[in-house]
Order: sequence, then structure tokens, then C-alpha cells
Amino acid sequence: MVVVGDAQAAKRRVTVLGATGSVGSQTLDLIQRNPERFEVEALTARRNVARLAELARAVRPKLAVVADLAQYGALKEALSGSGVAVAAGDQAVVEAAQRPADWVMAAIVGAQGLAPTLEAVRRGAVVAFANKECLVCAGPLMMAEVSRHNSALLPVDSEHNAIFQALDRTASVARIVLTASGGPFRTADRATMAGATPEQAVAHPVWAMGAKISVDSATMMNKGLEIIEASYLFDLPSDRIDVMVHPQSIVHGMVEYEDGSVLAQLGTPDMRTPIAFTLAWPQRMATPAKRLDLAAIGRLDFEPPDAIRFPSLSLARAALAAGGGAPAVLNAANEVAVAAFLDRRIGFLDIAGVVEETLGAMPSTRLETLDDVANIDAAARRFAGDRVAGLAGAALRLGIGSAGAPA
Ligand code: NDP
Repeated sequence: MVVVGDAQAAKRRVTVLGATGSVGSQTLDLIQRNPERFEVEALTARRNVARLAELARAVRPKLAVVADLAQYGALKEALSGSGVAVAAGDQAVVEAAQRPADWVMAAIVGAQGLAPTLEAVRRGAVVAFANKECLVCAGPLMMAEVSRHNSALLPVDSEHNAIFQALDRTASVARIVLTASGGPFRTADRATMAGATPEQAVAHPVWAMGAKISVDSATMMNKGLEIIEASYLFDLPSDRIDVMVHPQSIVHGMVEYEDGSVLAQLGTPDMRTPIAFTLAWPQRMATPAKRLDLAAIGRLDFEPPDAIRFPSLSLARAALAAGGGAPAVLNAANEVAVAAFLDRRIGFLDIAGVVEETLGAMPSTRLETLDDVANIDAAARRFAGDRVAGLAGAALRLGIGSAGAPA
């Protein structure tokens, strides 16, 4: 492996999957600030050709890929004369992950990121891991592939990155604590939440993120997915993974050891810090993130999460306890419900309702192969899609919009 920072070392060759998104763009921001350390092998996006072409012209990858086949011509034209090869389609995204990069950022949103992320793992690459949905739906399979291919999965999620940094692998861990900002509805009552619009749900008080994870943060399903992610990454059961609401988002995660010592990782809320940790690993690199000034902040608050207003946390714990295909069902139903909420087809509180009904309706199935994951994912999407159609139809008949406003 190339060690970054060694004057004699070659540049680290990187591929960014999901380059046009929030995590992808922040990764490329760091790469552009350190041209002597990195060279870019491939960039991928779903359909945002303009942004992909802009990034590709800036960092000069060998290849730029757009998943949406219909965008191939537009990408080719946008990059003509740049020397960057272009390709399109889901399979081309997978092939981008197969190219010989030392380090791959897995920052596609949703279960769609599973196939390319696995390909990077199977090459034995260092995989900076943001795409939590793919670990949630295929955790045991993914972790087995990581050890079989001697890959390294470096968590990008700020909480898991914090745990990774605070983890003394020679000591006995009693429990870990994932902090949560609480999202935009931390103090809202249920009536406010019932009428929440997509604009209100994505207006996160601390982090600027993509739309899907912002809604997950508002329902606290994001923390539920993170409990499952942490369980697989750190091999811990649900009852040794706690969640603490911490609105300032300064303490990102804590590890409590059997002697009562607690090690925490702190920093201003800027994703470039955990991304840089993975980019430079096993060394460190400078970032433009604002330095932490605890005296200026003055106080740090902590409170337990409200399980009644945020049922997604218990749903995620139930799916983790059920095991097998249940986390994949949870994830698929949530992806369908969040997309429907963003499309104003269902209300905010319906998201957890759709997930709960889908989980309840689908018996816990075994999960042994990637085909199992695909089948469970598809069945859960069908069921959740039907539930969404039912809710959206009922809202229309009653003459109310998804957010309780007149249709
Ligand atoms: P964004 O929505 O901002 O970006 C998603 C990226 O994935 C875009 O490049 C998008 O392309 C691409 N993409 C979407 N769908 C597909 C598809 N079907 N095939 C191929 N590419 C696709 O998401 P974020 O950057 O916010 O989040 C990415 C992942 O990182 C998520 O799993 C999220 O949970 C996780 N994460 C994000 C954090 C954040 O601060 N944003 C923090 C911690 C974790 P296009 O632009 O063309 O649509």
C-alpha cells in the first residue's frame, strides 16, 4: 500500500464513487488541495453530468462514468477534448470500481452502491466507507469479503470514524456511544412533524448533506442505520451500542472500556475531517476544517433520544436483532418511503409507518448470498411501494397533500 506523506512514495491513486454528491465533492475538495499526494483514477455519478464534467476537468481522472445510460452522449460532449475517457451504465460504475486504485471512496447513496463497493473490496483496496446502506443490507457478506480479500474498510460516517479513532483494539470495550444531532425536529411535537415538508426535513441544523441522509437524520433512521453499521463494523451487539443526542455535534463518538475510561473523538462538524482521516490513513493530513474552540462554544449538551417521537431507532434495533434479511428489508422500505416523502406523496410520519409495516409483513429470511440480498431488497421495495401507493391514494381521496396541506 502507498503511504501518503512519504516523500519517496508514489501518489495515492484514488477513485470516487458518487463524486457529485456531498461526500464525493468534499473528498475531491481535499484531493484538489493536495495535488502532490493524489492522482485520480475514476469518478462516477448517477446523472449529474454538468457537475461530473466540472469535477473531471478539475482533477483529470482517467475515466468518468455516469450510471444513467441516457446521459452518455451529454457526458461525452461535456468532456470532449479533455483526455478523460467516458462510460455509462450501472455495469460501467462497477467496472470503475474494478480499476486499479489504491483507495476508493464509496459515497453512492443507497443500496445501489453495494455492487461497486464490493468490487473495490474484492480488489483488496482501501475502501473509505460512507455508503452505510450497503453495509446495512449485506453486512455479514461484506465483512466476510473484507477479511477474505484483506481489504480495509475505513468508516467515513463521522460517528464511526470517531469510534475507529478512539478504539484501542488491545483493551476490552464495554460499549460504544454514537452521538446524534437530533436533526431539525429534535424539539418538535408530533403535530409539527406530521405536517413537515421536505424543505423543513432536509434543513439540517448542523450538517449540509444529500437529501436522503438529511431526511434520515430528521426521522433518526440515520442513527438506526448507524447502529446496524456499527454492529457489523465493530462486531458489537445492539445492547452495547448506545445513542446520545448531542445537538452541537462536537463529540462525534465515544468508546467506554471495562475499567470505566471513556475515550471520545471531538472536532467541529465538518465532514472533511473524517474524510481526510481515511484519505491519509494510516497517517494524517491537514484540512481547512475550522479548529475546535471549546471555550467559545461554552457548553456541550447531551440527552437520551426520544423513542416515541423517533420510532425508527427501535425499528432498526429490531431488524438488527432479527438478523438475516431484516436489515435489508428495513433499508429498502426506508429508501422507498424517503423517496416518496421527498416526492410529496406521503407525509413525514408515514416514513416510519411504511418501514414498520414492511418489516412486519416480511418474514425474517436467511441471507447467504448476494442474490439473497437482491431478492429481499426487491421484495421489500415492492411491498413498501404498494403501501406508499395506498397512503398517497388515501391522502388524495381525503383532499390532503402529503404534508397535511390542501392538495
Ligand atoms: P448525495 O445525494 O449528495 O450524493 C449521492 C451520490 O451518489 C451522487 O454522486 C449521485 O450522483 C450518486 N448516485 C445516486 N444514485 C446513484 C445510482 N443509482 N447509481 C450510481 N450513483 C448514484 O449523498 P451524500 O453524499 O450525502 O451521501 C452519500 C452516502 O454517504 C450515503 O450513503 C450517506 O448516508 C453517507 N453519508 C453522508 C454524509 C454526508 O455528510 N453527506 C455523512 C455520512 C455518511 P448524482 O449526483 O448524479 O445524482
